[in-house]
Amino acid sequence: MFEKVLIANRGEIALRIIRTCKELGVSTVAVHTTVDQDSMHVRMADEAVCVGRPASVNTRESYLSERNIIAACEITGADAIHPGYGFLAENSEFVEKVNEIGIKFIGPSAEHVRLMGDKIEAKSVMRANGVPCVPGVETGLESIDEVHGAARFLGYPVIIKATAGGGGRGMRQVKSPTELEQAYVQARQEAHAGFGDSRVYIEKLVTNGRHIEIQVLGDGRGNSIHFGERDCTIQRRHQKLLEETPSPVIDSRMREEIGEICCKAISSLGYEGAGTVEFLYQSGKFYFIEMNTRLQVEHPITEMVYGVDLVEEQLRIAYGHELTFSQEDLECRGHAIEARINAETVPGFVPCPGRVELFHSPGGLGVRMDSNLYNGYTIPPNYDSLVGKLIVHAVDRSAAIARLERALGELIVHPINTTVPLFQQLIRDERFHASDYNVHWLENWIEEIGEKLRG
Ligand code: ADP
Repeated sequence: MFEKVLIANRGEIALRIIRTCKELGVSTVAVHTTVDQDSMHVRMADEAVCVGRPASVNTRESYLSERNIIAACEITGADAIHPGYGFLAENSEFVEKVNEIGIKFIGPSAEHVRLMGDKIEAKSVMRANGVPCVPGVETGLESIDEVHGAARFLGYPVIIKATAGGGGRGMRQVKSPTELEQAYVQARQEAHAGFGDSRVYIEKLVTNGRHIEIQVLGDGRGNSIHFGERDCTIQRRHQKLLEETPSPVIDSRMREEIGEICCKAISSLGYEGAGTVEFLYQSGKFYFIEMNTRLQVEHPITEMVYGVDLVEEQLRIAYGHELTFSQEDLECRGHAIEARINAETVPGFVPCPGRVELFHSPGGLGVRMDSNLYNGYTIPPNYDSLVGKLIVHAVDRSAAIARLERALGELIVHPINTTVPLFQQLIRDERFHASDYNVHWLENWIEEIGEKLRG
């Protein structure tokens, strides 16, 4: 096993990775910025290196600085880098540089990161490997005439998306030809500002879809397994807020079928490491939208129902081991739900950074809190507002919902506003209990109950 792993990340995910490393007897190196020096991941790691000040908008400093992260590795003698999610996790040039100097990037090859990072290419490769995709035009759209032609071909409504997109940004829904030009121009601008790449593509808008994603692991030698699905349909602005597994709308036959399709595709690519194949699901059909070549925020729900440590598997695969499990060894037990605890004031989701005077983490049977908070910690305004993930596991969905309600009631992050009141309302809603919703539902629901959330 590796001797020393540098974690090129911060917050709850850095802590999550350090925990597994400790259990495996692997030394850890944390990196941090000047505002993160008192963070829990710095305290928990064996060593820590400051990689600079927080980055200002659109600059590649500190956590985004390839040079500083690689220098931190060299200074500390780390033999591998775990990128977590976000920051450099899906930057193929970084992967290439790291591997070139003999440090192991814990994740797929640079080639696979690049391939899946280009959503047009990803779709055509996956389609060629037998994965069903959202109907779309998989060429970059260079002129407004091309866009009109493509939209006519697909039929309205359509969605324009950034080729290099992520985090739900750079997407525009278009209901009719009159809205098309403005949406195209705006999507391009947003794509350029967000990803430095203004290329966009067009897809049929799936109007009543659920977000279903399949967790896979490949060993880089053509073997792969899947860990069923996660249902991430509860979203706001195309960003996930609550995830669960198994999905209330997928049965075991469908799970096996789609899981096998994903495994076949990633095996034929020779994919290495953890990955998530994302689909929209409507009326019994799956439509591939993208593949994420990293650990996902919501990976713990899969860990809870399958009883596996996905970070441990990532480390083992990266070190050259074979897969620990075969598909037959894996059994989904019970139901797990994750609620993302963001330091935000609902219903507007305005960030709410500041000093945490009192933090109390929920506990008890089937409750897991992955958080970097502690009493006296100051949540900096510079980063994503995710400050914790409350994960519950129980025998079935209704028991998991009851457990989530109980655990949300125990969580204290005083005096910071969080997304807790939103979840407390949501899990009392009949539509949520009945699993009767699609990816567009939550936004309207928030508008309807906005007043209650303010109260
Ligand atoms: P990102 O990489 O920015 O997260 P994705 O392609 O994964 O983008 O899509 C994120 C979310 O956007 C999906 O879960 C879904 O809610 C919405 N979305 C994406 N493509 C479509 C589509 N063709 N029709 C309807 N909704 C879509």
